[in-house]
Amino acid sequence: MSHVFYRNPYKKYPVVARGKGVYLYDRQGKRYLDGCGGAVVSAIGHHVPEVVEAIKAQLDSVEFAHTSQFTNDPQEELAELLAERAPGGLDFTYFVSGGSEAVESALKMARAYWVQMGRPEKWMVIGREQSYHGNTLGALAVGGNLWRRAIYEPMLYPRPRVAPCYCYRCPFGRHPESCSLECADDLERAIQEVGPEKVSAFIAEPIVGATAGALTPPAGYFQRIREICDRHDVLFIADEVMTGLGRTGAWFAMKHWGVVPDLMCLAKGLAAGYVPVGATMVHHRINDTFHNRRNVFQHGHTYMGHPLAAAAGVAVIRYMSEHKLVDRSRKLGKYLREQLQAACGDHPHVGEIRGRGLFVGMEFVKDRESRTPFEPETGFHNLVGDAAFELGLILYPTGGTIDGRRGDHVLIAPPFIITRSQIDRLVEILGRALERATKQVA
Ligand code: PLP
Repeated sequence: MSHVFYRNPYKKYPVVARGKGVYLYDRQGKRYLDGCGGAVVSAIGHHVPEVVEAIKAQLDSVEFAHTSQFTNDPQEELAELLAERAPGGLDFTYFVSGGSEAVESALKMARAYWVQMGRPEKWMVIGREQSYHGNTLGALAVGGNLWRRAIYEPMLYPRPRVAPCYCYRCPFGRHPESCSLECADDLERAIQEVGPEKVSAFIAEPIVGATAGALTPPAGYFQRIREICDRHDVLFIADEVMTGLGRTGAWFAMKHWGVVPDLMCLAKGLAAGYVPVGATMVHHRINDTFHNRRNVFQHGHTYMGHPLAAAAGVAVIRYMSEHKLVDRSRKLGKYLREQLQAACGDHPHVGEIRGRGLFVGMEFVKDRESRTPFEPETGFHNLVGDAAFELGLILYPTGGTIDGRRGDHVLIAPPFIITRSQIDRLVEILGRALERATKQVA
């Protein structure tokens, strides 16, 4: 009998035995092509010797020293590498152990900043519908994932939610030709509804992952968001937990639009799964406020700045830089989308294939013409995900919210080292999985 509290007690989990490159192997020796880096985590592939050696070397010198007593070389170096690559001005990094912690830190940092600025009435963080920022209570409160929130709703503080930028099902009934960025202007409405004097920050994922299958904003969206935030003294938090560190073909997705957030959350790709780590990057304007007033940011977690996590992060960033993997994510992402479009683009249950870099989403529909979604209980994304898994391909099925219901997509986000022929194989298996799922709903 297993004593593990499984995330899904009805599911039979194979035991993972080892990983190499884009492949994972279970104890029975079955090989799986990792088409999604687990949950968009494994950015450079499995068992990269340079990263494994860096972690071992750190372990040989010191495994842990608390950051209230010491700093350590790897965290200093990782902060420097991040500052060199981040949008200009995000010069400081607060290290934590995962994405939710990075978001919690950002929410509290925004509040603490306004208190220091003599505006303690500013506390509320506004988020969007159809978004995901983590499962801890603060992160859940600002997220718009209805089914993850449902039973915890009484524990979450109420706040308005801003419309998603969901061009395939535009909440304002627009088409690309008639788009005037009403989805961005919806933030203005929400700020006015609460009163700008109460709003401390707005949080958004640059390209929405877990709830929306790589939902990509229309041109000009984030520039408009930045303007609105500036006009109302509202900080902008970019949640780059999924999109950061090269996933979308730029070191950080915000660089695609030349927008500098005030705070930026990272995790997943930061140590690419080798060790748990997260980070909140901080604009020097905010850092200076704490520093100049000699104020401590009243927060903290035991494992922040952990030497092993930081050593892994340094090794991952160096490996990505040496092998030009960000560029590779951009080029191979384009190839992946083209191949998916050619193989599955006309399938009756494929509504849209979207994304940027090696961050690709496929949205499923019951009826392609009318864009009618499947009934939530069909769970088409899980049928495709399960069929693919059986065929040796790992996809990330994600259920978002369409018209208040659970959405239907898979994320395809392989390690950046994937080759063109491995992409061809991924597309071929995905096509077969799609056919199997289609037969199940026929
Ligand atoms: N933010 C975003 C955009 C995410 O996609 C996730 C996880 O999927 C999180 C935050 C939470 O990260 P974690 O699961 O590491 O707590």
